Amino acid sequence: MKKAALALIITIILAVVCVTALAACVNIQEEGDGIYSNQGVKYKVDGQFATVIGAVEGATYCKILPRLQDDALGINAEVTIIAENAFAGAKIDQVEFDAGFERLTIYPNAFAGSTVSNLEDFPYTNVTLTDNALAGMHDLRELSVRGDSRERGCYYVDEERDYGLYGVGENGEVTLYLVPAARSAGEDYTITADIVAPGAFSGNKSIKNVYVGANVKRICAGAFAGVKISAVTINQGRTAEIFVEDNAFEVDKDMRFYVPAKDEAELDQWIKLNDGEQFETLSGLIHPAGCTNSGAHIHGLSGEDAPATSLQGLPYAVTDASHYKVEIAGVTYTLQYLFTTFSAQ
Ligand SMILES: [Zn+2]
Repeated sequence: MKKAALALIITIILAVVCVTALAACVNIQEEGDGIYSNQGVKYKVDGQFATVIGAVEGATYCKILPRLQDDALGINAEVTIIAENAFAGAKIDQVEFDAGFERLTIYPNAFAGSTVSNLEDFPYTNVTLTDNALAGMHDLRELSVRGDSRERGCYYVDEERDYGLYGVGENGEVTLYLVPAARSAGEDYTITADIVAPGAFSGNKSIKNVYVGANVKRICAGAFAGVKISAVTINQGRTAEIFVEDNAFEVDKDMRFYVPAKDEAELDQWIKLNDGEQFETLSGLIHPAGCTNSGAHIHGLSGEDAPATSLQGLPYAVTDASHYKVEIAGVTYTLQYLFTTFSAQ
């Protein structure tokens, strides 16, 4: 009996300490015009909902709450949005998420250009990431998910691979949302996720060669924005289509795509345009796997309008400073990669 009483007293004391600590933490400041601040974060409250709009001036640590509640101030609002560009350019070191988000949407470039080096306790579920939601965190080194899970609808950090933030869709597809830009991912990086989200590698300084695993289905626009890559190799063994969106990679005349093509017909599969389109652009960046010609050259299509028909490739001349245009036999073409979809036979 005595033991039970003691346990009860300890529990009561702990509860009092917890409530006191919580009250000290909350301490919401009213800034006027429906704006409130707490723990380095500014919120705009509109009725029962609140939007994260940025960092408090001078704050280096921000803790984002799932609910703003203060009886004295007369607010009780669920935090459901982190606004576009909310923390863009902010001089903050750490952003931490509190527990208990029920639905949170993060809009584009929410942290872009900020100095955040530690994104802590990202919610494991109930978060919607718009395109480029987490792009542009050039100083990010640490990334963690609170209660991470590999179940459908959940997020996790893969500490054994790349410390990247991955999400599992309701259909079971895995999307890679972000690899911390300031943590080395190695010079040679192999994509294993089904989808690479926009901005996933923005600002990455370590990656030189990208290998695309056989299961990868889509590399979204801006996935490797601003990353100077030497070569992208589509790995052998592909059985599903791959969709590489425009501007997924930074195009440069010295960059190369290597595709698993053994002959012209297979190469055509990778660089052909849609049926009926004129051959106005050229996949000057695409080489068959095993191409050892290190000089500037182009592998052509074998169709009527193609300027080249050789798997070995024709030499070309770059005709503008941006390196996007090339001239072959008096005709100027724009360098692009065009292998939008491809089914292995
Ligand atoms: Zn080649």
